[in-house]
Amino acid sequence: MTATAPDLLARLAAIVGGAHVLSTEADMAPHLVEWRGLYRGRAQAVVKPGSTAEVAALMRLASAEGLKIVPQSGNTGLVGGQVPWETGDEIVLSLQRLNRLREIDPLSDSMTVEAGVTLAAAQEAADGVDRLFPLSLASEGSCMIGGNLATNAGGTAVLAYGNARDLVLGLEVVLADGRIWNGLGKLRKDNTGYDLKHLFIGSEGTLGIITAAVLKLFPKPKSVATAFCGLPSPQAAVDFLALAKSRAGSAVTTFEITPRFGVDIAVKHMGCRDPLAGMHPWYVLIELSSASDAGLETTAESLLAEAIEAGLVEDAALATSLDVRNAFWRIREGMSEAQGVEGGSIKHDVSVPVAAVPRLIETVNAELEAFLPGVRPFPFGHLGDGNLHYNITQPLGMDKAAYLALWDAVNAIVHGRVLEAGGSVSAEHGIGRMKKTLLAETKDPTALELMRTIKAALDPQGLLNPGKVI
Ligand code: FAD
Ligand code: ZN
Repeated sequence: MTATAPDLLARLAAIVGGAHVLSTEADMAPHLVEWRGLYRGRAQAVVKPGSTAEVAALMRLASAEGLKIVPQSGNTGLVGGQVPWETGDEIVLSLQRLNRLREIDPLSDSMTVEAGVTLAAAQEAADGVDRLFPLSLASEGSCMIGGNLATNAGGTAVLAYGNARDLVLGLEVVLADGRIWNGLGKLRKDNTGYDLKHLFIGSEGTLGIITAAVLKLFPKPKSVATAFCGLPSPQAAVDFLALAKSRAGSAVTTFEITPRFGVDIAVKHMGCRDPLAGMHPWYVLIELSSASDAGLETTAESLLAEAIEAGLVEDAALATSLDVRNAFWRIREGMSEAQGVEGGSIKHDVSVPVAAVPRLIETVNAELEAFLPGVRPFPFGHLGDGNLHYNITQPLGMDKAAYLALWDAVNAIVHGRVLEAGGSVSAEHGIGRMKKTLLAETKDPTALELMRTIKAALDPQGLLNPGKVI
C-alpha cells in the first residue's frame, strides 16, 4: 500500500529532516530532467539523506510501503537512468549530501569516499597526497562517485587504468530492504567467495544504493607527453597504437581518434586552433605518462619519428607546454558540443575488438552513405579501448526533425554491424531507459535470464529504479 502524500512527506522528513525533502515542482525541477532535456519525469518527492543510516531508514520505509526509489548522484548520465518516469509515483533519492572523504591511506594506495563526492573532488583528494585517481570524464566537475560506479563509467584513461569497475577495492551498499552491506575492505587479494561489489558496479541503481567506496590510487605521473597526429586511415591508427604499446608499454595512457570532421567543427565552433599545418583524413590524440620523469619526451619523439617513417602518421605535433597540451585536449573535449551546432546528430556508444574498428568504420560509413547521401558520419573517441562514439550528423541543408525521424533506421545500420563484429551496443554509458529495448533484443537470452534472477533476489518488490535496464 502506498502512503498518502502529506503523511509520506512527514515520514520522509522524520528521517532526513524537513529541509532535505523537496516536494514542490520548482524545488524538484533540477532532479527531474537531465541536462540535454531528453528525459523529463515527475516524482512524489526528492529526498536528500545525509548519512548511510538515513539511506537505510529510507529503504526500510520504502520496502514497508512499496515506494519506488530512483537513486541519483550527479545527474549527468546519458541514458536516462537517473530520471524518474512520467508517472509521478517515484521518489528520487539524491546522494548529493553524502559527500565526505572518510579516509585516505597513501601507503595502501586507497581512499574511502562517499557516493556524493564529485569525481573532480576525488581526483583532488588523491592529488593532495601525491597520488592519482585516474578515472577521467568530461563531466567530472558534476558527476559523482556513486554514479560513476553505478554506471561503471569509462572515459579517456581506460586504456591504462581500466573502467570504474577496475578502480574499486570495496563498497558500502544499502539494499532494497534497508540492510547495509559493509564491504569497505581495502584488500588487494580476497578470494572468500563471490565478489559481490561487481554485482552493484554497473547495475545503474537497480540492485542497491551505493553509499561509499574504497577506491584505488596510483602513482602520480611526473611527466606527460601529449601529441596530436594526422593519419591516413583508421587502419593506420590501429597499427600506430600497436607500435606505441610496443615502444612505450603501459606509458600509453590515452589514444583517442577522430576523423577530420571533429577537428573542423572544434575549430569552427569552439575557437580551437588547427593543431597541424596541413589537413589529414584522421587524427589521433596520444598521451604517454610516467611516474618517473626521465626520458619520456625522447620516447615520444622517437615513437613519432618511427610512425612517420612507417607511413602510419603523416604529421604530428608534440605539446611543448601545458598550454599546448590543454589546447589539444580542448579539441577532443569540445567536439561533442560543436557537433550540436552542425544540426541533428544520431548517436551511438559502441565497442568492438580494437582490430575490428577499421572494417567497422568502412562498412558502416558506406552503408550510411547509401542510405542517406550526404550524411556526415563522425566516429570518434576511445580507439585504445575499441570504443567509438559513432555519432552521425545530418546532411547539410536537411530538415533536422526529418533527419532525427530516421533515428531507428540509422541505429539498425550501426548496431547491426557492431553485433556482427562481436561488439557491444553500450560500451560505457549503460542501458538506463534509452537502450532497454535494445538490450532485450540483443543480449544473450541466458544472460538476460540470469540478470532477472539476480534482480528478483536482491529487489523482490521491484522498488529500485523500476523499469530501467531490464
Ligand atoms: P547519475 O546520472 O546521477 O546516475 C547514473 C545512473 O546511476 C542512474 O541509473 C542512477 O539511478 C544510478 N545511480 C546514481 N547514483 C547511484 C548510487 N549512489 N547508487 C546506485 N545507483 C546510482 N560517461 C562515460 O562513461 N565516459 C565518458 O567519457 C563520459 N563523458 C561524459 C561527458 C559529459 C559532458 C556528460 C554530460 C556525461 C558523460 N558521461 C560519460 C556520462 C556520465 O557522466 C557518467 O555516466 C557518470 O558516471 C554518471 O555519474 P552521475 O553521478 O552523474 O550519475
Ligand atoms: Zn566516451
